Amino acid sequence: MNRIEIIEEYCIGCGICVSSCPFGVIAIEDGIAKILDGCTVCGACVDICPYDAIIKRIDEPAELSTVRLEQYNGVWIVCELEHNKPARVGFELLGVGRTLANARDVALSAVIIGKDIKNLADEYIAYGADKVYIADDDWLADFNEENYTAVLEKLIRSEKPEIVLCGATIWGRSLIPRLAVRIHTGLTADCTHLEIDSDTGLLMQTRPAFGGNIMATIACPNHRPQMSTVRPRVMKPLEPDRNRKGEIIEVDISDIEKPIQRVKILKSIEELGEMLNLADADIIVSGGRGLGGPEAFKMLFELADLLGGAVGASRAAIDSGWIPYAHQVGQTGKTVSPKMYIAIGISGAIQHLVGMQSSETIVAINKDPKAPIFDIATYGLVGDLFDIVPEIIKKMKSR
Ligand SMILES: Cc1cc2nc3c(=O)[nH]c(=O)nc-3n(C[C@H](O)[C@H](O)[C@H](O)COP(=O)(O)OP(=O)(O)OC[C@H]3O[C@@H](n4cnc5c(N)ncnc54)[C@H](O)[C@@H]3O)c2cc1C
Repeated sequence: MNRIEIIEEYCIGCGICVSSCPFGVIAIEDGIAKILDGCTVCGACVDICPYDAIIKRIDEPAELSTVRLEQYNGVWIVCELEHNKPARVGFELLGVGRTLANARDVALSAVIIGKDIKNLADEYIAYGADKVYIADDDWLADFNEENYTAVLEKLIRSEKPEIVLCGATIWGRSLIPRLAVRIHTGLTADCTHLEIDSDTGLLMQTRPAFGGNIMATIACPNHRPQMSTVRPRVMKPLEPDRNRKGEIIEVDISDIEKPIQRVKILKSIEELGEMLNLADADIIVSGGRGLGGPEAFKMLFELADLLGGAVGASRAAIDSGWIPYAHQVGQTGKTVSPKMYIAIGISGAIQHLVGMQSSETIVAINKDPKAPIFDIATYGLVGDLFDIVPEIIKKMKSR
């Protein structure tokens, strides 16, 4: 049973907790705090005690101590839909999911939820899924965390996958933590790298931690499934193979008790704007502190226009107020993976690299031959950007 406990050796009977208790169920008896009947275990007294003499004991639900890891099998990707079309992040996760499933010699499954979506199954199979679970019904037409959690909870409890991955998008971030709590397992949010120990099946989930100053690798050894959300554009999709065959499973959701509807979707509109442009651009021309001011960004916009691309920036340029945040690439900005990324006057700090290092071709322009950006660049041009960029623009225009 969950309860509040007093550590008598630490308690000095100061009484601060007495006044902090919203239910008036703490008293000082014989110089020591006592919890009386009626405690709701809200924890207000725990936070306020200056002597760390009060603790909240949470007992694990019975089902947690009886998890049998060997009962869990298979890798699942919970795939997001955008206006009833597959979001790209689902395909990206099927790519890494395929590697994990192969290492474990288990099936890779895509899970999709919505209305009138059965026609999408083949596409997920082409991108690497062995099975596609489809929950298709009128009440699932619009994304609703409570409804979708109810469906996924039922599915996971009955099928017991060992790994569940989802995109760290607004969609995934609002759905998956709720699900993890419901099925009593751990979740590593916002991963940038996943690896598996093929013998133990332990998923090593890497993500930035402590404000991005270190990369932490997190494992979930005692509970299943192991759950991660992964930033879009970090993983690469496989080339689709339209001859692949897979199993399509229509999920029986008739026995699910529909949650009380607290949210009603009135209208859904497509996202527009620069953020979307940047993530979807095939070519990104990105500028950093080396540009020296907002003026030089005009040159980058001109180059991006000629190349049919979008303009990105390092945080140094954003923080200097040279260009709006929507353009920021990196750990605290957008993660991008274009066909070509041109880094101009950007040194290549790790926080920038994590947002663009999976780009197909990286071109770096920097006057410092030792700049770290050259370590990951496909092509490097050492020199003054104010000489090189106008020259490229001139050449492009003369073509
Ligand atoms: C928690 C945290 C999160 C962060 N998140 C991000 C993030 O999301 N994105 C991000 O970008 N950064 C991020 N940063 C900041 C990051 O650490 C770097 O400070 C930043 O990326 C540096 O930007 P820069 O490369 O433009 O500037 P600098 O490191 O100052 O590099 C400027 C470069 O321009 C070159 N240069 C100068 N003049 C010229 C010229 N005339 N011609 C050619 N080259 C020239 C220089 O040689 C130099 O290499 C984060 C930092 C922290 C601590």
